[in-house]
Amino acid sequence: MNRPLLFLDVDGPLNPYAAKPERRPEGYTTLRVPRNDVPQEDRGFSPRRPLRVWLNPEHGPILLQLDFELCWATTWMDDANRWIAPVLGLPKLPFVDFGDLLLQERPDGVHWKTGPLVDYAGGRPFAWVDDEQSELDQAYVTAHHQGAGLLHHVNPRIGLRENDFHTLADFALSLGASRPTS
Ligand SMILES: [Mg+2]
Repeated sequence: MNRPLLFLDVDGPLNPYAAKPERRPEGYTTLRVPRNDVPQEDRGFSPRRPLRVWLNPEHGPILLQLDFELCWATTWMDDANRWIAPVLGLPKLPFVDFGDLLLQERPDGVHWKTGPLVDYAGGRPFAWVDDEQSELDQAYVTAHHQGAGLLHHVNPRIGLRENDFHTLADFALSLGASRPTS
């Protein structure tokens, strides 16, 4: 019933943007998104050229099989439903609306996503898949979040792999063991 949340970043875990540009990773497909439709941080210095996004269509079904409730946690926000979800075979998902905090660096070094994600979770257990968390974020979550919280880091040169999905499944399983079954 009350499954944990899985906060999903796009650029890094699902789109291994830092992989060698001349070689698309195996299993991935290429999506080209007009610059006007991409997050501010991805607009870069060539506003006329579409943004290249690599996505692996196998990732959607795997994510859906995990015992989580999926939620976008990305600068793409609702645009992830328009551009990313269809390629992965994901339904329209809820997303965290970062509002004015989008890309706003904090003086204490905690990632700008961390506070909004903890607030969104409201004490509900969550896993957060991203390529940008640090120990400061773990400390913030430990201090401000009541339930279990897994910050799972993914290398943006590699993206999500089988091992990552195992880690997420194990986390959900560890929570399920303490959940009432009736
Ligand atoms: Mg990222």
